[in-house]
Amino acid sequence: MLFDTHTHLDAEQFDEDREEVIARALEQGVTQMINIGFNRETIPTTMKLAESYDFIYAAVGWHPQDAITMQPGDLEWIEKLCAHEKVVAIGEIGLDYYWDTSPKDVQHRVFREQIRLAKRLNMPIVIHDRDAHEDVVRILREEHAEECGGVMHCFSGSWEIAKQCLDLGFYISFGGPLTFKNARVPKEVLANVPNDRFLIETDSPYLTPHPYRGKRNETGYVRLVAEAAAEIKGLNLEEVAKITMKNAQACFRLG
Ligand SMILES: [Zn+2]
Ligand SMILES: [Zn+2]
Repeated sequence: MLFDTHTHLDAEQFDEDREEVIARALEQGVTQMINIGFNRETIPTTMKLAESYDFIYAAVGWHPQDAITMQPGDLEWIEKLCAHEKVVAIGEIGLDYYWDTSPKDVQHRVFREQIRLAKRLNMPIVIHDRDAHEDVVRILREEHAEECGGVMHCFSGSWEIAKQCLDLGFYISFGGPLTFKNARVPKEVLANVPNDRFLIETDSPYLTPHPYRGKRNETGYVRLVAEAAAEIKGLNLEEVAKITMKNAQACFRLG
């Protein structure tokens, strides 16, 4: 039984065959998923999925790439949705210096506001960090994000950065890159992360694992991530499934 802690099943890439993709995931043993709504368009589609399927949870937040589009009232909208029984986290939120679609100061403000909301509501946060490791950690520390906790999704930083996130009580989540032959850093990081602090995810339809790299990613492929994790950790697939299920339930305070 696997838990894909970060997926975008509402993405238009699945418009033709969403039902089949979900059915295939279940066949692969993926029994729990968190769909991420991250802006004005994807929050409603995420809520719809969470309301349609028992095993799909929702996270809602404002993505750093979309920070510039956040309007007065949107934070209140997110707050209201957090009362919904299927909403388990605020996210994905954070910083993205790769695409640079929103100015840094706006990204920082929107990130900080959502951390404060998460603390107030006692909700975990899902962090998106692309090429912004130092600033993400600095803001998490300055805002005392250890009070709400959460997960560093599809973590791409060094062990040194990972260690600081672990010290703040965050979980570290790994996706498709773990399966790439040349991805030395995430493998090294996972080898060092304690067994009770890592999660697995797909971030589908993006970041497709080997051997499907270059094609659309889907939630069922989280099994490939789990297999790669098992090899790195010297565990079997069943053990990784058990551990990551337990970790995800603790991180998102389920059951
Ligand atoms: Zn992300
Ligand atoms: Zn995502």
